[in-house]
Amino acid sequence: MNQRNYQKELDKLIESQVSSGRVPTLLLHSCCAPCSSYTLEYLSQYFKITVFYYNPNIYPETEYHKRVQEQQQFIERLPVKHPVAFIEGNYDTDRFYEMARGMEQLPEGGERCFKCYELRLREAAILAAEGSFDYFTTTLSISPLKNAAKLNEIGERLAAEYKTVYLPSDFKKRNGYKRSVELSEEYGMYRQNYCGCVFSLRTE
Ligand code: SF4
Repeated sequence: MNQRNYQKELDKLIESQVSSGRVPTLLLHSCCAPCSSYTLEYLSQYFKITVFYYNPNIYPETEYHKRVQEQQQFIERLPVKHPVAFIEGNYDTDRFYEMARGMEQLPEGGERCFKCYELRLREAAILAAEGSFDYFTTTLSISPLKNAAKLNEIGERLAAEYKTVYLPSDFKKRNGYKRSVELSEEYGMYRQNYCGCVFSLRTE
């Protein structure tokens, strides 16, 4: 089976937007400031971005607020070609625990995580459709621990369901992850050492 190259697909899409002189709008779901760093540096050259911070998976609440603050500060400080806006979603943790029920003991990277991607991407897809964004996507694929094929599959399924468009992406390509580590150091960013939920905290 041929594996898709999401970076190449994104290159093609950007190339055609640039040649048409268009700067499309993008709703970018972000999991945290460090993961958004390279993604924003890269995509803000070609898109008008709204960062959507929707992560009800994060535990504890103090950690959630710390990550939101770090995200906002990074957006304010990053020099960009096109404007970057910010929207914070609801911190509705009940939805996350309801979704994770029965999968609490699964290791990171398994079914619970796929459902966790979907929970967050669904909210982004709904907002992208309601706000008539040209595209939506997520920073999540920058992490070597996240499954880019799954993220794109879920994103495209939700795009079809809500009649919007998912931007194909695998931000760990082209040294994206390495660049995010460099930017985090450059900006003195807080880099958490666990994915986010109480279950990932336990496995540390
Ligand atoms: S480990 Fe990360 S992706 Fe998996 S369920 Fe927890 S927060 Fe979500």
